Amino acid sequence: MDTLLRTYNRLEFLHPIHGLPFLKHHIQTHDLPYQKANKRFTRKLSKQTSIQATLLELVPETKKENLEFDLPLYDPSKGLVVDLAVVGGGPAGLAVAQQVSEAGLSVCSIDPSPKLIWPNNYGVWVDEFEAMDLLDCLDATWSSAIVYINETDTKLLGRPYGRVNRKQLKSKMMQKCISNGVKFHPAKVVKVIHEDTKSYIICNDGVTIQATVVLDATGFSRCLVQYDKPYNPGYQVAYGILAEVEEHPFDLDKMVFMDWRDSHLAGSTELKARNAKIPTFLYAMPFSANRIFMEETSLVARPGLSMEDIQERMVARLKHLGIRVRSIEEDEKCVIPMGGPLPVLPQRVVGIGGTAGMVHPSTGYMVARTLAAAPIVANAIVKYLDSSSDQIFGDTLSEAVWRELWPMDRRRQREFFCFGMDILLKLDLEGTRRFFNAFFDLEPRYWHGFLSSRLFLPELIFFGLSLFKHASNSSRLEIMTKGTLPLVRMINNLVREKY
Ligand SMILES: Cc1cc2nc3c(=O)[nH]c(=O)nc-3n(C[C@H](O)[C@H](O)[C@H](O)COP(=O)(O)OP(=O)(O)OC[C@H]3O[C@@H](n4cnc5c(N)ncnc54)[C@H](O)[C@@H]3O)c2cc1C
Repeated sequence: MDTLLRTYNRLEFLHPIHGLPFLKHHIQTHDLPYQKANKRFTRKLSKQTSIQATLLELVPETKKENLEFDLPLYDPSKGLVVDLAVVGGGPAGLAVAQQVSEAGLSVCSIDPSPKLIWPNNYGVWVDEFEAMDLLDCLDATWSSAIVYINETDTKLLGRPYGRVNRKQLKSKMMQKCISNGVKFHPAKVVKVIHEDTKSYIICNDGVTIQATVVLDATGFSRCLVQYDKPYNPGYQVAYGILAEVEEHPFDLDKMVFMDWRDSHLAGSTELKARNAKIPTFLYAMPFSANRIFMEETSLVARPGLSMEDIQERMVARLKHLGIRVRSIEEDEKCVIPMGGPLPVLPQRVVGIGGTAGMVHPSTGYMVARTLAAAPIVANAIVKYLDSSSDQIFGDTLSEAVWRELWPMDRRRQREFFCFGMDILLKLDLEGTRRFFNAFFDLEPRYWHGFLSSRLFLPELIFFGLSLFKHASNSSRLEIMTKGTLPLVRMINNLVREKY
């Protein structure tokens, strides 16, 4: 699997630990081949702790798998102006390409590796995929999920959870794109130049593609979409392995949504203190008695935790749980920027997915929300380009599309989620436990709606009040003291919303 992460262009956000410099190139470098990066990463770590090195040495060196498709390629010699150029072939970009081409418009999809199976291990709530008729794109489901609040308290969540079959999802979208006539151009976009009614997209292979509308779907690398405010997100950082193990202690019918237990750190005062201040939890998908995906996760921190810190905690946890790893099929180094400002609204390039601020600021989830938003963006593009209605171009068209992607109610919702993130950023392990204890005691429609971005402002206020009512006294005090500033900031931002 390609573990080279696409994040915002700088990685100085991570906490260094033990005075070791942060291994910045190994986590993010787009340009280094995975194999080389991984070897160096393993070598550096082996100096740090031998146990950790042993785990990491099990990581397979190459895990890039391509889909078997004959791609219809874009022919630059024809100089055609396509209706839509989609930059980035992740879930967000392909979903829009598929839907706009379905309406008969011409689409070019530009991505350096269009056939590569997406690298991330996506998890979603089953009802989210059911609502989009995508149940065939889940390869494992669990009838419930469990949250370990601490050593003694658990919450059983009666909401089925699933793992996305990313090969199936991408194949399905690619097949539809191909049959709808989408053309592919395997390259990286470096620049865009706009005229009144069309844009020139310049690629790193020297090819220029002309398009009426340009959609930036380049995830967290945010290739073309402009931001005009300082970029100050929180970061979710996680290290995950899909492993064959001798055994594990988890029930096969429950996925582990969050395990906040920390008894595995009892042997190390220093690690325990670190975790007490900025906690990490285990997220796990048990597939069988011997095969499991486990991810040690820092929900959100600013600056983000370092990958070594996370790995060290994971090694201690697995040892304590008696999980002996026999082999690792794939690993995932996850860095997700959360919250922060929205892009400039409106602007000429339209966006969707990571590049358009769509990640849930309190959870890091996005794939279901993006797939659900793709028809909104696609329909808007089709509607405004359709010659039978009032056709508009250039900045006017982009403004109209942005307005449909980020209407006022969605922007208000995001402000509330950012407020949630600001509170989470301030909570230590005990505060986090109290928070989730109250959160998962709420009526399911509240926590389901919050996690799946289905609650809007009036309901979110009830959600907040209900959370407050369910919280313990110390938790209420915490929310009042630590939440006042973020609350004021949220109200300020809500009042200033005008676009
Ligand atoms: C490791 C990881 C795990 C995640 N797990 C989950 C999860 O379980 N559930 C969930 O809901 N969300 C998850 N997320 C968050 C989010 O859903 C994903 O990041 C998702 O992949 C974002 O989709 P996207 O299409 O916006 O961007 P991406 O999937 O990042 O796709 C962007 C595409 O753009 C291409 N690209 C980049 N720059 C250029 C350029 N200059 N020119 C042309 N192409 C370019 C890239 O090659 C890539 O193919 C995860 C994120 C990460 C990083």
